[in-house]
Amino acid sequence: MSTLDRLKNAAGPKGFSEDAAEIAPHLVEWRGKYKGHTPLLLKPQTTAEVSAILAICHETHTAIVPQGGNTGLVGGQIPLDGEILLSLSRMNRIRSIEPGALICEAGTILADAQRAADAAERYFPLSLAPEGSCTIGGNLSTNAGGVNVLRYGNARDLVLGLEVVLADGRVLDMLRTLRKDNTGYDLKQMFIGAEGTLGVITAAALKLFARPQARETAFVAMRDPAAAVELLARLQAATGGLVSAFELMPRIGLELVLAHIPQTADPLATPSPWYALVEATSGAAMPLRETLETELARTIGDGLATDATLAGSDARQAALWRLRESMSEAQKHEGASIKHDVSVPIRAIPEFLKQGMALVETIVPGARPVPFGHLGDGNIHFNISVPKGGNNEAFLARWEDMSRAVHDLVHHFGGSISAEHGIGVMKRDDLPLYKSAAEMDVMRALKKTMDPHGILNPGKILIPSP
Ligand code: FAD
Ligand code: ZN
Repeated sequence: MSTLDRLKNAAGPKGFSEDAAEIAPHLVEWRGKYKGHTPLLLKPQTTAEVSAILAICHETHTAIVPQGGNTGLVGGQIPLDGEILLSLSRMNRIRSIEPGALICEAGTILADAQRAADAAERYFPLSLAPEGSCTIGGNLSTNAGGVNVLRYGNARDLVLGLEVVLADGRVLDMLRTLRKDNTGYDLKQMFIGAEGTLGVITAAALKLFARPQARETAFVAMRDPAAAVELLARLQAATGGLVSAFELMPRIGLELVLAHIPQTADPLATPSPWYALVEATSGAAMPLRETLETELARTIGDGLATDATLAGSDARQAALWRLRESMSEAQKHEGASIKHDVSVPIRAIPEFLKQGMALVETIVPGARPVPFGHLGDGNIHFNISVPKGGNNEAFLARWEDMSRAVHDLVHHFGGSISAEHGIGVMKRDDLPLYKSAAEMDVMRALKKTMDPHGILNPGKILIPSP
């Protein structure tokens, strides 16, 4: 029997597709930057099926690419070299829920996991713009960040246990819900952020938290990013660390959203060069609103902020968040953009932005920096839009020059060239420039040990060994 037939048998009658129309959407990523091809899409429904599939791939040296919701931004989920595509989308059951933990399968959509927690009067804090389509398996494999990292941590911090299928098909059942477990190496951590190169995550035990009783959202105007850094420190002090999101936005970003995204409005009367979207939440009912009102009034009085509005209603909160979450979408409508997902120490953000924006102008005069994102985590999406009226292709041809310069600057500030989206293929060749030779050696050794035939997502994160 051919390898493809064996794989189809292992996945079961509903567990595969060779239909070009069904496969097509799985082959292109959100930005349209990477396009792949595959002879076969596998859609297993159980861990045993994933195990059987990987055992065959291991035995026959057949390369396979895991895919969740296909919202990844670095090309990691795309079969660029004609690999088999393994979609976890049918593995989407919630296996159990208790006050401290939710156990769900890897293909569970993030929003469904949030809803399951909410139905049990608990809270799962991972939250990112594509939460209606990204999956828990993808979130963990990319160690996703999002808007609540400041308070609750990255995806990695939200995991108690994992179930993983190894490259040779063996199943690692580590679905424990223990808060403490120091029995040697913490193996689950190896697969979190590994982008499907070391194993396939099939299920996870996720931490649940108290459901917020009080939630306040503010939109604050300020002159520069240095004021934003100071404002964050003040609000954390005033609320006793209850700030859960602190998102920076430049005026140009807001303008692009207002121009391209329907049903949006400027929350403040006078334009300001920079804004912060701030959210504070509390698991207990408390006068959060009054605390924020008092502190924001004080910062305006001190000249640190220039204006601010508190949301007041759920609808107003949603409207403010829409401004922030539409920023990538709005940039898409404005033409081509060159994007960077970087982090630097929070204190270095103002200087990094100042030097970074000047650098952009020297590389492509007229290019429009739209840096926004998770200031509270030191993570800026340093995106650059094509010059007004400029040629998209000519601009995108400068991607490598631009990225090298921006990443060199990030490195100079002791930062990271991928704060939350991962490496995939997009940053693979740059990685050795910024990671030490020793770190690269350990990563290669790990890959060789975990996946000796190089079948799992080959060419992602690391250049395949010959
Ligand atoms: P996919 O895109 O399908 O896969 C991502 C990677 O994980 C691939 O390498 C894939 O091979 C691997 N993988 C997927 N499932 C498994 C599995 N079960 N086992 C092993 N490997 C697997 N990310 C953030 O962190 N923060 C943000 O704020 C954020 N905002 C975004 C905004 C927009 C508009 C978009 C389009 C993306 C954004 N992302 C963000 C990136 C993306 O949504 C995340 O990386 C997300 O975690 C990917 O989940 P997914 O299910 O779509 O994974
Ligand atoms: Zn982000």
